[in-house]
Amino acid sequence: MHEFVQKRNEKLAPIVVANLKRHFFDAYSCATSAEAKILALSLIPAGSSVGWGGSMTLDALGIKDDLRAGDYRLFDRDLAKSPDERVELMRGALTADVFLMSSNAISADGQLVNIDGNGNRLAALIYGPKAVIVIAGMNKIEATLDLALERAQTVAAPINTGRFPGKSPCRTTGVCARCFSEDSVCATVAVTRFSKPANRVKVILINENLGF
Ligand code: SF4
Repeated sequence: MHEFVQKRNEKLAPIVVANLKRHFFDAYSCATSAEAKILALSLIPAGSSVGWGGSMTLDALGIKDDLRAGDYRLFDRDLAKSPDERVELMRGALTADVFLMSSNAISADGQLVNIDGNGNRLAALIYGPKAVIVIAGMNKIEATLDLALERAQTVAAPINTGRFPGKSPCRTTGVCARCFSEDSVCATVAVTRFSKPANRVKVILINENLGF
């Protein structure tokens, strides 16, 4: 990562953490992905049931392998043997003790922005799991809520289309056409203005630029 990006992240992270805390999120900043993974695992009590949403950040951290090797009860959608089993595991994850995900964007004043096709990730973020751990690179931080909404729609969503089959316009052009295609990964947009109850949603920022 370029040193000036690193400097920006180091200056901005404590400000965003303070603003997230002001919005009743339990918030942290870590220098590296490795630190973030250790911190996230420390926030999950042994014996907990754990689920997760689709996330390139979680994949990059490799945290699912740590969970599989640990003392947890997993709703492991990635190891489902059939589409039906995968759906059942995704539904089960909505009742997990802990749900892991990233965020499509975060405004510097401390609000989370997410867009989902199926909606399971948003459902878990909003209600169900006792705790939600959001892990996000500092590249997800935008100066305002409007810019965070724009990032989620025009940057994160077109990238996310690559994880699903279908024919939404951004798969061809790389540009969001604000489509209403039945294959769209953008059925629901959610702004999490604050954590309710307080500290149910925990946010871990990573100063490394993960690039997605
Ligand atoms: S083109 Fe459609 S599926 Fe692609 S990012 Fe925009 S709204 Fe979402």
